[in-house]
Amino acid sequence: MPIPPEHRDLYRAFLDQGLSSWLARLPDQLDRGLDRQRHGDLPAWEKAVAKLPTLPAERTVRLDSAAVTVDLDLGDSQRRQCENLLRKLAPWRKGPYSLGGIHIDTEWRSDWKWQRLAPHLADLRGRRVLDVGGGNGYHAWRMAGAGAGFVLVIDPSPRFFWQFRAVRHFVGDADGHRTHFLPVGIEEVPEGLDFFDTVFSMGVLYHRPSPLEHLLQLRDGLRPGGELVLETLVVEGDETTVLLPGERYATMPNVYFLPSSAALCQWLSRCGFENVRVVDEAVTSTDEQRTTDWMTFQSLADFLDPDDPTRTREDYPAPRRAVVIANRPYP
Ligand code: SAH
Repeated sequence: MPIPPEHRDLYRAFLDQGLSSWLARLPDQLDRGLDRQRHGDLPAWEKAVAKLPTLPAERTVRLDSAAVTVDLDLGDSQRRQCENLLRKLAPWRKGPYSLGGIHIDTEWRSDWKWQRLAPHLADLRGRRVLDVGGGNGYHAWRMAGAGAGFVLVIDPSPRFFWQFRAVRHFVGDADGHRTHFLPVGIEEVPEGLDFFDTVFSMGVLYHRPSPLEHLLQLRDGLRPGGELVLETLVVEGDETTVLLPGERYATMPNVYFLPSSAALCQWLSRCGFENVRVVDEAVTSTDEQRTTDWMTFQSLADFLDPDDPTRTREDYPAPRRAVVIANRPYP
């Protein structure tokens, strides 16, 4: 079966990386991940990206600045056309981006998270990186900007896939085609991969009903000696403290375990990681996650108790996040 032109890049990258066992599964994974029945709006997103006009070849791309930035000269009418098409992919949650003079002010200042953890990472230059639940790929572009040799985002959301493709349209070849997106969840990563130098899992663990299984899956994707960067919601407390909220936490229906960072470190050790260390812990501010022109639904401020912003509306501690780094040991 011929490879559809829009996926050639991804296939080529998997071939170049020697990911042959996974390569065989790509046709089926892409078919299922982008199945138009999965979401009523999916055909509209696909169409919006297809309609983006051919852009001038001359452009300046910056993947190491707060906003992932593509500077190019768009005329007013072309800029308006691009902006209308990009808005069809809203809500835009992770960013910011600045594309041809269009500033996408996303719900999250994802650059703040990057700033908090970047100084603690093993040098990304030349590394093979997996970003599990990588949203629309904002952090992946930053990883490429930090010199990673191959960055793969996996995220089951087809909206985020098309947002990534829209950004790719602007970035063009400027990243040397090092940045890729596969619309699948972590359960689709082949077992026993032993491949990536760095695996990121940020904002995903608390959505997993079996968090230890998630940690084991992340370990499985790493080569021995590789680095895990884990970011998740935590609560204050010692290694005996874990919160399992009721039906909702900060209005989110799909939140499971919120350990203390000490408990999280213990989970990682029990799952066979070594060199486990907390590199950052902070309460999430309503400046970091907020309603914007590109994400017009409710956001963090609406999820907190109006009389006591240190509590959620359900009377749990307000969102607090930790970044923990650990290594997969050598055998
Ligand atoms: N990593 C980004 C986005 C976090 S939001 C950041 O830190 O800003 C959590 C993401 O996990 C969402 O984009 C969601 O689509 C994705 N997700 C949900 N289920 C998943 C699964 N089973 N495997 C991988 N990602 C998943």
